[in-house]
Parts: sequence; structure tokens; C-alpha cells
Amino acid sequence: MKDRYLDFVNSPFGTSIARALGLPKPEVLRRHRADEAEFAGMAAIGAGPSPTLFDQLMRVLTGIGMTGIAHDSAPDWLALAHRRGAMSGRITPRAADSGSANRVHALIFDATGIAESSELHALYAFFHDALRSLAKSGRIVVLGRPPSTCASPRAATAQRALEGMTRSLGKEARNGITSNLLYVAGSADIEGALRFFLSPRSAYVSGQVVHIDRPAAAPASWTKPLAGQRALVTGAARGIGASIAKVLAEHGAIVTGLDVEAARDALDQTMLSIEDTSRSGGAHAALIADIAAADAPAEIAAALASAGGVDIVVHNAGITRDKTIARMTDDMWTSVLDINLLAQERIDDALLAQNLLRAGGRIVAVSSISGIAGNRGQTNYATSKAGVIGRVQSMAPVLRERGVTINAVAPGFIETQMTARMPFAAREAGRRLNAMGQGGLPVDVAETVAWLASPACANITGNVVRVCGQSLIGA
Ligand code: NAD
Repeated sequence: MKDRYLDFVNSPFGTSIARALGLPKPEVLRRHRADEAEFAGMAAIGAGPSPTLFDQLMRVLTGIGMTGIAHDSAPDWLALAHRRGAMSGRITPRAADSGSANRVHALIFDATGIAESSELHALYAFFHDALRSLAKSGRIVVLGRPPSTCASPRAATAQRALEGMTRSLGKEARNGITSNLLYVAGSADIEGALRFFLSPRSAYVSGQVVHIDRPAAAPASWTKPLAGQRALVTGAARGIGASIAKVLAEHGAIVTGLDVEAARDALDQTMLSIEDTSRSGGAHAALIADIAAADAPAEIAAALASAGGVDIVVHNAGITRDKTIARMTDDMWTSVLDINLLAQERIDDALLAQNLLRAGGRIVAVSSISGIAGNRGQTNYATSKAGVIGRVQSMAPVLRERGVTINAVAPGFIETQMTARMPFAAREAGRRLNAMGQGGLPVDVAETVAWLASPACANITGNVVRVCGQSLIGA
């Protein structure tokens, strides 16, 4: 459904009206486009004492063609750049006030060496100087250590404090700017996560904390990281699922899209359009099944067995049957729990029992911010979506032994047929009550799923990543 307010306030006429009336003006978010460079320009680098990730950071920025310029808090950066023969310089914050040409595209702060809370002042110094230098749709990434791995309670306290800083920056920055925190254990590889959080692919992901816990090999190609992999996407006929199928195919995967009989035509159309746009040459397939049916797990397993197994399983299919609990029928409760949660467990059990999920496999389940915050009229839905989060967290250690990761994405308000059916007031509240002042698009969820499904995310498991524009709900 179109967001007419967003379109209006970004038109030439609407811009002046909004300015005159002091109306909020949500930014048109910069999203990935095949005909535009994904990374460009400068990243300003700040740091606390003894930063540990500069070498990795330098390698990633050089690889993606960005220049890192040093803030006073990060003098080691200049020394490193000189040693590596990389382009660099110093950030001069006030120059940014003189025009958009001087603005940087990212602010990256290495807080991994911060060992006590007084040292958090370095964050104040850097962001106080640099925040106004950040371009529209710019990116803030803070790198820290998981508090649970810190040597002392003081260090853990200071590292935990980074969450408040990062989330507040996201709410202050506006202009389509995102702010995210990566907790990096030991010498874990940060390239996969950095590429995602610095790129336009993470346009609607802000205020998130991601745990990266070990080394991970880079994919053979960063442009087609899923080349040769087979993916199953449930609920692929329309909305978020159709977009997930399309984006996975663009990343090189061969996709089996699944949906119910009633959605057969839409599913066929989705899978045909993928064939046209991806040109991957793979045999994408449509599979008709009701995931809640008793025989569905066996049917799905048989279809995937005939294709030689599966690398990526995306549990996207879901329904809402909203009513306050006193008015909710037994069927409304049972069907939502069955489709949104129990079906996922049964399907994964069948795939794992038959060893159909190949080593290095990825499971990504679609939860919801309702599952985090709860929602009036959604006891059934929120229970099922919180259960999805519980499943991801409890299955992660079990699946790790097989080299499989499992993560969840929790969308906020996404413009789909599901949200188009909402009453006007609830729809407008969902759209506006987030740091971006607008709803997300299915592609925002799809890009996040594709990132979590990539080989570079072998070191991210048991995480829940909200795709909600930093919604105030569940914050
Ligand atoms: P949608 O209703 O547009 O699409 C859901 C798809 O799942 C449909 O094609 C439907 O036919 C399919 N499906 C439903 N029951 C099925 C079953 N039993 N077996 C097989 N397929 C089935 O919904 P959407 O907005 O694209 O949502 C996709 C997922 O994202 C859902 O899990 C939903 O709960 C979640 N989500 C959506 C939003 C949002 O704002 N749209 C927010 C949070 C979470």
C-alpha cells in the first residue's frame, strides 16, 4: 500500500508545505539498486582506548572502496593507514556544516578496548564532533565486546552501556540514518556484518545489537554469496515471502517457493518473475502445501530430497487472527499457533531427521515485534512469534554441532496486504511511530534474511534482528 504522506512531503510542493507547517518529513530511504554503487565515500573512525579491530576494519573498508578518516579519538588509525598505504585524513567536523559534499557516509567507533565506564567519554567526544557530518541515509556502527566475555564486571558494565548509546543515536540522527551495535567475540570476522550494516540493504534496520562469535570464511563472491545454494521459502506467493524468494535468487540461490493451494496462481507468478529477473539459470520451483497439515513435513522433505537437500530454510508463512482473548475462538488461537510456530518445529524436525539440511545450512524464521512487545488483540499471534524467538535461541546451540545457524528477523510495520487490512488509525500509528517515520518494505526484511542466510554469517546464530525502523513498540 502506498504511503501518500511520505510521497507528498517529499514532493517539491509538499516540502514547502511541510516546512511552513512544521510537519515531520520522513526521509525517502536509500535502498539497494543494481545500477548504483553499494559503498562509496568516507567513513569517520573513532575509538576508545586500545581498539582491537582496526586491522579488520581497514581491510574491509579498503575492500569495499571506502576511505577511513580519523577522529582525534583514533590517532592509531592514521598510523595504520600510512603503514598500509591507504588513503586517509582527519575528520574536520565543522566543514560538514558548509555543505553536503563534505559529509561522510558512515561513523564507525571501535569501543572494544573500553574497560570501564569512565572511558565511555570517548564515545561522547566522537559523536559530539561527528554526528552532524553524517550524510542522509548514513550509517553508524559501534563495535564492542560481548559483556559476557569481559574479564571484569567493570568492563562488562561499560560494554553493556554501548547499547543505550547506539540506540539513542539512532533515534536522534533521523534523515534515514541507521545506528547498530556489533558485539564481536575474540577475533571473530566482522566483514559480513559490516558490509550489511554499511550498505543500503540495511535501510530499515536500526537500533539493533548483533552478536558475532567466531571466525567465518568470506563467500566466493560478495555479489552472489548464495550461488549454487538451494533455499526453501514458505509463504512465498506474496508480500514479504515473495520478496525473500526474489532477493535470495538475486543473491544466487535456487529457490523453492511454497504456499497454499488458494495462492497457486500468485505463487506461479512470483516464481516466474524470479526466473526473469535473476537469470541464475537454476530451476526455481513452486511447491503447494499447507504447512500446518499433518502430512506437510513429509511432503516438503520428499520434495527437497529429490532436489538433493536444502541449504537455506526461511520460515516466513504466517497469519493473524486478531481478537482480545475473551472474544477469541479456540480455532483462532489454534490456527495461529499451528501455522506460525508448531509447523516450523515439525518441518525442521523432518528435515533434520532425514539429514536434508546440508552442513553449513541456515534457518531464518520470521518473528514480529509483537512477539517482543506484545500487542492488544494479538495474544495468539504474539505468543506464536515470541515462541519463534525462543526456538531460535534454544535451537542455536543444538544446531551449531551440525554447522547450521538459526536466527530470526522481527519485522515491525511492513507495507503488505497484511498491514493494508489494518484500521486506518492503527495503520498510521504503525507507520509513523518509529525512528524512520515510515513503514518498511518487504525488500527490507528480504535483504536482512538474505544477509543472515549468507556464508559470511556462519558466526551469527541465535540472534533476533528487528527490521522495524527502530519502532517505539517493543523498544
Ligand atoms: P501475507 O499475508 O501478505 O503473506 C503470507 C503468505 O503466507 C501468504 O502467501 C499466505 O498464503 C502464506 N500462508 C499462510 N498460511 C499458510 C500455510 N498454512 N501454509 C503455507 N503458506 C501459508 O503476510 P506478510 O505481511 O507478507 O507476512 C509474512 C510474515 O511476516 C508472516 O510470518 C508475518 O507474521 C510476518 N510479519 C509481517 C509484518 C508486516 O508488517 N507485514 C510484521 C511483522 C511480521
